[in-house]
Amino acid sequence: MVKCSFCSAQAVYVNRVSGLAYCRRHFIEYFERKARKAIRKYHMLSPGDKVVVGVSGGKDSMALLHLLLKIKKKIPRLEVVAVLVDEGIKGYREKTIPNLVKYAKKQGVKYLIASFRDYVGATLDEIVERGSEYKLPYMPCSYCGVFRRYVLNTVARELGARIIATAHNMDDVVQTYIMNLVNNSWDRVVSLAPVRESSEEYIVKRIKPFYEIPEKETALYSLLNNLIQPEFIQCPYVKYNVRFTIRKLLNELEENHPGSKYGLLRSLLELIEMGRKHKIIEKKYTRCIICGNPASQAICRACLFRAQLNLLRESEKALLRESIEKHPELHRLLSKMNTP
Ligand code: SF4
Ligand code: ZN
Repeated sequence: MVKCSFCSAQAVYVNRVSGLAYCRRHFIEYFERKARKAIRKYHMLSPGDKVVVGVSGGKDSMALLHLLLKIKKKIPRLEVVAVLVDEGIKGYREKTIPNLVKYAKKQGVKYLIASFRDYVGATLDEIVERGSEYKLPYMPCSYCGVFRRYVLNTVARELGARIIATAHNMDDVVQTYIMNLVNNSWDRVVSLAPVRESSEEYIVKRIKPFYEIPEKETALYSLLNNLIQPEFIQCPYVKYNVRFTIRKLLNELEENHPGSKYGLLRSLLELIEMGRKHKIIEKKYTRCIICGNPASQAICRACLFRAQLNLLRESEKALLRESIEKHPELHRLLSKMNTP
């Protein structure tokens, strides 16, 4: 039996990099201290902030909601609203939604469920089917990620919240970093910072309080606080995602060389810093002419997908047509819009 390095209780976790062992109580203290430190270090939250927490009902997001509700007591007038984005994936999301609802009711936290059907115009299952019918070149996870950000952004703006907190942990960040390197997408590396500041009214600040915390630890924090059921539910589209190949590789690397993920995270942070300092990689946003969310072109990626999937409402199509003189690049898109 391994003993806790701080008391005589049985350890539930051993940090392989530091060699320290933690019992339940000391692990929870250690975890919350680390998250609080990141929140302070990166100036994530201030008194009076209204924060939308993106939750899925899974381990990471339930851990984040739990932590922010604890922190709420220490930051005056901090308001927390849990928003669960229901993508509409048969046999998957309906298992995690009750988890959030039960927890939110017990804690008395405000929550709402925002579905792809209501905000995008179709469920992810329908989108995937339509995408293959229209011969679009996108994978299910590409639609899913883009539309999830779109729904969260739209809901945050509707609620008047200036901050979105997401449960991306160190593993997620490092995996995305490697994916961007593989795709040579340097501009996207910038959006991997722990905080995306809001420079304009339409840009909602995004924070990742678990940026420096490994997935193993967020999972354990959830389990020790009884936030999730131990049963493992996997999204049926997971096999199409390159992230999971990279995840496996990185886990193997970490297993053989503890501390590798943290090393990659440090290199990412230095890269972001260098990019900022020398203005090498600068992501500029404009306002999407259809939905008003941040975009790197005339329309955001979500509205581009919706147009290609023929999911725009008539008023939105009219907006797009009106803008065509100013944005001739939209011609090509419009010509494809209504034809399966
Ligand atoms: Fe969405 Fe892909 Fe994750 Fe499934 S695996 S929830 S489709 S991002
Ligand atoms: Zn848009």
